[in-house]
Amino acid sequence: MTVSNILVLGSLNMDLVMQTKVCPAGGQTMHGDPDGFHTGAGGKGANQAVAVARLSNPSDTKIYMAGCVGEDVFGQDMLRGLKQDNVDVDAVKVIPNKSSGVAMIIVESNGENRILLSEGANSCVDVPFVQALEEKIQHSDLLILQLEIPLLSVQKAVELAHKHHVDVLLNPAPAVSLSPELLQHVSYLVPNEHEAAVLLGCPESPPTAQNAELYADKLLATGIRKAVIITLGSEGAFYKTKTGESAHIPAKKVQAIDTTAAGDTFIGAFSTSISHEKPLKDSLQFAAQSSAITVQRKGAANSIPTYTDIQNILK
Ligand code: ATP
Repeated sequence: MTVSNILVLGSLNMDLVMQTKVCPAGGQTMHGDPDGFHTGAGGKGANQAVAVARLSNPSDTKIYMAGCVGEDVFGQDMLRGLKQDNVDVDAVKVIPNKSSGVAMIIVESNGENRILLSEGANSCVDVPFVQALEEKIQHSDLLILQLEIPLLSVQKAVELAHKHHVDVLLNPAPAVSLSPELLQHVSYLVPNEHEAAVLLGCPESPPTAQNAELYADKLLATGIRKAVIITLGSEGAFYKTKTGESAHIPAKKVQAIDTTAAGDTFIGAFSTSISHEKPLKDSLQFAAQSSAITVQRKGAANSIPTYTDIQNILK
């Protein structure tokens, strides 16, 4: 049996979530909801590593996380959680005298969120850190990247993957415009509709299921090596390959409760499938199936389904 090695290089954040009827004004102190506080491991990098780990057959896939956490309880907690999911964390560095990345999230009862991010130790994922990962990148079948670490480090990782002929999946979140030098070495570009629009310099007109092919064509023209996959929330996803194959992958019809981590689940499921050389369309259908489970559960990483959950549904 061939074993796939998947490396995720990216962010690790602790979400600190407080629910309240209304937000305090400047200078005001008030009570949030009793029992309205919870913490949860997050960060797109860590979530995608967890998604790959849970959605893989453990006997044929090894998943590695690379990134930085601070020397604090949040860092310890996040490392413990990843290990519980069988993610190898040898390449996660604990940075002395630094805080872990944190997202402070206030959720008002009208559903409005206010989020304040502190990148903390994620800023230590610098170019020398990535250079030191060269051997790990060389021995990977797929490198997964997002944009919650410094852009120069993402560029370096892409260059090293190109040097060693390793496929790169880039989830360009949060949305920024990117240089053709970076995009030309990306095998699979997986933006959501807003990220696709920002990449193409038209943030006010995101693609829809009807016109996504136009956007995919323009993104392919930037030099993407294999395929562009645009996710469209409840409208599903659209893909087009360099060889001209394209299709709309509809989302499963389900009652969505909380769509947090839908995109991360989609990427994790797709990655594990494609790394085993399954057809692209089948891999995307597996991704749609997996993320449809995530949206029916509350929470972030904890809502990502397992390989067994999917097997049970498909029985
Ligand atoms: P996030 O940032 O919340 O992780 P995203 O914006 O990166 O998400 P989406 O495009 O919202 O990603 O969702 C990814 C995939 O999840 C979609 O292509 C679809 O297959 C599935 N999905 C999202 N929302 C729903 C929904 N309401 N019902 C069913 N499937 C959904």
